[in-house]
Amino acid sequence: MNLTYIERLMADAGLVELCHMKGGRIRSTWHRDTDSLIATATQAEGTGNLFTSLNRIDPGALAEHIQQATQAGKTARTPDSCISRYCRIFFDLDPARPTGQSSTAEELTAAQVRTHGIKTRLAVLGWPAPLMALSGNGGHLQYRTALANTPETGEMLRLIYDGLAQEFGDDEVEFDRSVRNPARLCTLYGSWKRKGPNLPDRPHRQSLAHIPAPWRQVHPRQVEGLANLFAQQSRPRVIGATRSPPTALPPGGRGDYASLDVTAWFAAHGAYVGPLAGHIHGIRCPWQEEHTSPSPKTASDTVIFASAGDGWPGFHCKHSHCAGRDIKDVMALWGDADAFCTAAFQTRRAA
Ligand SMILES: [Zn+2]
Repeated sequence: MNLTYIERLMADAGLVELCHMKGGRIRSTWHRDTDSLIATATQAEGTGNLFTSLNRIDPGALAEHIQQATQAGKTARTPDSCISRYCRIFFDLDPARPTGQSSTAEELTAAQVRTHGIKTRLAVLGWPAPLMALSGNGGHLQYRTALANTPETGEMLRLIYDGLAQEFGDDEVEFDRSVRNPARLCTLYGSWKRKGPNLPDRPHRQSLAHIPAPWRQVHPRQVEGLANLFAQQSRPRVIGATRSPPTALPPGGRGDYASLDVTAWFAAHGAYVGPLAGHIHGIRCPWQEEHTSPSPKTASDTVIFASAGDGWPGFHCKHSHCAGRDIKDVMALWGDADAFCTAAFQTRRAA
């Protein structure tokens, strides 16, 4: 088990539900300290699957709930109403596969490409680095935060999950919109994920988490900003309307396109999918509506090539409608590439 992960969770949440699921059986215990949680988890570790809560539980409300459940002869779990505060914004990407089975290596990779895509997308908006995890069968991201569990927070999260699902989810990898409820359980990282039979091509895997240092909190204003962005995007748009370009470079200063941060640029337009191999990244084609055949699920039909600093980045779409189109056509379409260059063209020539 990942001790640092449990310590950070305990420090932020104060009280944590540990849930052991085996067959149809669910057994929950609640812990106020790391040692007690680890002791219980260690006993259960050999079988089934282990999960924990992520957010701050109101101890008084929980005690009352457990008492009522016990009197009614029911198994107690943490209800959403007992959560006082969100400590984590949790995203879960799960590859499509036969029901009740573990993922193949290829399916797992597809999910991880999307998790990196979301990280890049939100980094462009100034969000700090998240925890990135292998859930066993797919990918997770956890952003640290501190948001009161109110209807307003719930609505902001709904907008964000719907928006990201639209950008990053499809029939190959599901962006799970249902994991946004406050009492949501998440894999206890370091434990084994046992789904279906343990097969050579669909093996049980140990879940792993990478915690960034520092693991900074997302500010509530950033959460609100992203929710507003998606709220605006979901309103019907006038065809041909131009976006107002960001102004990182002084007006009139043309960017040196060898310094164009092409992944950030596509991410800012909601068109970034994730890294594929080396400097190649999967994207959504800006002319997707013109395609006559649907994109493959890997989003590998349309790619960008990041520049190594010695030339312009590249754009390539395999669809016939995009034949002959290159990065210059994308620049002409969006009109804001200069703002994503780290150097101005004149500056470089003068040097
Ligand atoms: Zn295309």
